[in-house]
Amino acid sequence: MTAVLEVRGLHAGIEGKEILRGVDLVVRQGETHALMGPNGTGKSTFANVLMGHPAYQVTEGQILFEGADLVGMEPDARSRLGLFLAFQYPVAIPGLSVANFLRAAINARRRGRNPEDKGIGVPEFRKLLKEKMDLLQMPHEFAGRYLNDGFSGGEKKRAEILQLATLEPKIAVLDETDSGLDIDALRIVASGVNALAGESLGVLVITHYQRILNYIKPDRVHIMLGGRIVESGGAELAEHLEEHGYDWLREKTAAGAEKGTRQAVAEG
Ligand code: ADP
Ligand code: MG
Repeated sequence: MTAVLEVRGLHAGIEGKEILRGVDLVVRQGETHALMGPNGTGKSTFANVLMGHPAYQVTEGQILFEGADLVGMEPDARSRLGLFLAFQYPVAIPGLSVANFLRAAINARRRGRNPEDKGIGVPEFRKLLKEKMDLLQMPHEFAGRYLNDGFSGGEKKRAEILQLATLEPKIAVLDETDSGLDIDALRIVASGVNALAGESLGVLVITHYQRILNYIKPDRVHIMLGGRIVESGGAELAEHLEEHGYDWLREKTAAGAEKGTRQAVAEG
C-alpha cells in the first residue's frame, strides 16, 4: 500500500505567534514535490511541525500519515511510522561517529517497534552502510568522522542524505538541503536524492531557489506565501518563479483576498 502524507487546514505557530495559516498538502510515496517560497514565509516551520518539534504548537488542522493523525505524536513515533526530516541546520556531535550515530538511530527505531529487538548486528550494519555509501558515492572514511564536526556545508548535507538512505523512510522532507552549497556539492546532494527516489520514497524538497530543481525533477511544485500554499502546479511553475519572482503571486493573492472580502461584504 502506498503511504500518504495528508495535511489538512494546518494552523501552527511558535511562542503564540501564528505562522502557518491553513496549509493543505498531499504527498504520496513515490512522488517528488517541491515547496518553494520567499524567506520567512513558514517553510521551515512547516517542516518542524510535520516532524513534531516541541517548540511549535498546532492550533488547528490535521497531519494524517498512514491513517494516523500525527498531531500530538512524539518525533520518534513519527520517525517509526516512516517520516524523515533532513534539517536546514544540522547540529554537530563531537565524539559521536557517523556510523555509531546511524546504528543507534536504526536500533532506536527497531526497539521502538519491538522492545525485545536485539538491534542490528555489526556485520549486517557494516554491509548496509557500505551499500548506502556506495549508492551515494561517498568515501567510506566518512563513516568514521564525528557527526557534522568540522564538516563543510556540503558534507553536512551529505550526512543528512546518508541518514535518509539508511533509515529508509516512506516520506522524506528535505529543508533547504541546497542552501549554502556550491554547484558541485549541490549536484552531489541532488544525485543522492535521485538515487534514493523511487516507488518506495516520497520526497518534499523545500527550497527558495529554483536551482536544485534543475537536478531534482519535481512532479508537483507548491508555493507558500504568508503561511499558506497559494499556488500549485507542475515543474514549469518553478521555472516561472525563476523568471518572474514572487511579486505576481503576492499581487494575485492580495487581489484574491480583496475580492473575497468584497464578495463576503456583498453576500453578507
Ligand atoms: P522560512 O523557512 O520560509 O524562511 P520560517 O519558518 O523559518 O520561514 O519562519 C517563518 C516565520 O516565523 C518568520 O517570520 C520568523 O521570523 C518566525 N519565527 C521563526 N522562529 C521563531 C521563533 N522562535 N519565535 C518567533 N518567531 C519565529
Ligand atoms: Mg527555512
